[in-house]
Amino acid sequence: MQAGRIEIRDGVVARTILSPTTGFIAEAGFTHSLTPARNCTFGCTYCYVPTMRVQGGLKPEDWQRWGQFTTFKSNAAELLRRELRGQQRIYCSPMVDPYQPGEELERMMPRILDALLEAPPRVFVLQTRGPLIMRDLDPLQALAQRTTLRVSFSITTNRENVRKLYEPHCAPIRERLDVIRALRDAGIETYATLAPLLPCDPEELALLALEASGRDLIGDPLHIRSAKPRGATTRDAAFRVSASHHHQKWFDPAFQEEVVGRIQAAAYALGHDFSTGPSGFATLAL
Ligand code: SF4
Repeated sequence: MQAGRIEIRDGVVARTILSPTTGFIAEAGFTHSLTPARNCTFGCTYCYVPTMRVQGGLKPEDWQRWGQFTTFKSNAAELLRRELRGQQRIYCSPMVDPYQPGEELERMMPRILDALLEAPPRVFVLQTRGPLIMRDLDPLQALAQRTTLRVSFSITTNRENVRKLYEPHCAPIRERLDVIRALRDAGIETYATLAPLLPCDPEELALLALEASGRDLIGDPLHIRSAKPRGATTRDAAFRVSASHHHQKWFDPAFQEEVVGRIQAAAYALGHDFSTGPSGFATLAL
C-alpha cells in the first residue's frame, strides 16, 4: 500500500514478538522489547537502527532505504497474548517508533494495547515522537489503571529549523510539547526525552521540556564512534546535514558533555534532574 511518500509492505508473520533485552535497555532495567514493525517511516537522519543491519533484524533494503517503507508484524497482537507475563518490563521500541506515520493506516497499536489490557506486564513503556499516540488515549488511560504505563516522548531540539533538517518527517516541536502536556493532563506518566540532542539552545530546551512534562528529564547526545566504538551509531545522513550546516561540534564528546551539563544545571535550578545513558532510561523501567 502506498500513502504519499510512505509505502506499507504486506505484513510478515513473526515467530515471536517479545525479545529479551541486551545492551543499553537491559542495563536500564527492561526485561523485554516489543517491536511491531521493521523499518520506521519517520526516517530520521540520525537514526542508529539501520547501522545495526542484520543484528537489528533488518534486511538489506531496510538499511539501504531507511524510512521509505515499513513492514508490520501482522500477528504481533496474537503473539503478545501468548508471550506476556506479569513480571516483564517492556520497552516499545528500540528499533522503530510505534506511532510512526505508517501506523495511522495500519492501526497495529490498538490491537497491541488490547492484548496488554488482557494481561498487563509489570511495566510498559512507549518510546515515541508521534502525535498519533493521542488517537489511542482511551486504551492508554485504561492500561495506566492496570499497570505502570509510561510514555517517553522525544524532544530533540527547541529550534524548528534544526528539526526540519534532521527529522523532516516528524511533527513540529511545539506540537510535540502539546502532546506531552495533553498526555500528562490525561493522567499518563509522560517524560520528555531529549534524545538525541540535536543543535539547540540547552537552557531553553530544558525549560520547554520541563514546563510540558513537569518531570525529571532523560536524554542522550548523538551517538559517535569515538565514544562508542562498537554497535549502533548515528547514520551517515545526519553527518551530511551537520557538515553542510556547520554543526560538527554537536558530535564532539567534550562539547556534548558541556551541553549535558548546561541542561542539568537548568533542570536543577527548577528542582529537577537530567540524566543520560542507561541510568537516565532506568527512570522509565523502575
Ligand atoms: S523515530 Fe526513532 S526509530 Fe524511527 S527513524 Fe526516527 S530515530 Fe529511527
